[in-house]
Amino acid sequence: MLSIVSTPIGNLGDITVRALETLKACTAIVCEDTRVTGQLLKLLNLPKKELISFHGYTDPSKADVIIERLKKGEHLCVVSDAGTPCISDPGYVLISKVREANLEIEVLPGASAFLAAISASGLPMNTFTYLGFLPIKKGRKTLLQTFKEEEKTIVFYESPHRILKTLGELATTLADQPDREIVIARELTKLHEQIIYTSIGALESAAKAMIVKGEFVVVVGPLYLTPPRRAGHLSP
Ligand code: SAM
Repeated sequence: MLSIVSTPIGNLGDITVRALETLKACTAIVCEDTRVTGQLLKLLNLPKKELISFHGYTDPSKADVIIERLKKGEHLCVVSDAGTPCISDPGYVLISKVREANLEIEVLPGASAFLAAISASGLPMNTFTYLGFLPIKKGRKTLLQTFKEEEKTIVFYESPHRILKTLGELATTLADQPDREIVIARELTKLHEQIIYTSIGALESAAKAMIVKGEFVVVVGPLYLTPPRRAGHLSP
């Protein structure tokens, strides 16, 4: 069996009871970075395990070795460095191959940075667009232009190196929509967690006041064609 295990995005207390039990019981852990996962096991007081490296640059044929082990009845876990495997992280190639081989898969849900950010955003979430990381060059401008007409909340990941550039581009692209809401979630669940609720019109000054360190999720509110109805949790 292959267990897909979410791990904390910063606060160790966010590990689930099920994740602890499963990481303890499995034969080996397939992970993005053996040093990061080794350290996590140590911090969680879990026993040392065999760690099998499987990241974005791993030859996909390595999945066959993992599949052979699963066929022999081993219980393996797959984790990423933080959060939920496969969400802008390696994992899906392995999981699709395990599925094709008709082997058992179970999922242990837990922390994910974009889920934490959108739930804290106070923006409509019945439907939303998740973009992962924005393209750095090709297609970036075109994608940002689509934000102008987007009637769904948009969420994406950003690095500390690019956050100011990206916020500047958002302010320029959406300049004629100054009331458009924007939420910048920084270092979620960590000591220096910061959630900035602002608008396109106030974005420049908000960005100036922001500490440009750590990990970021950006949430852009939808273009409202009709004024938002705030009453009732199911209403947009
Ligand atoms: N699989 C992960 C998940 O489920 O959240 C996401 C992996 S992606 C490679 C890493 C990005 O997630 C970071 O660059 C950052 O944009 C965002 N991120 C991760 N942890 C975060 C945190 N504690 N606060 C804010 N953003 C975070």
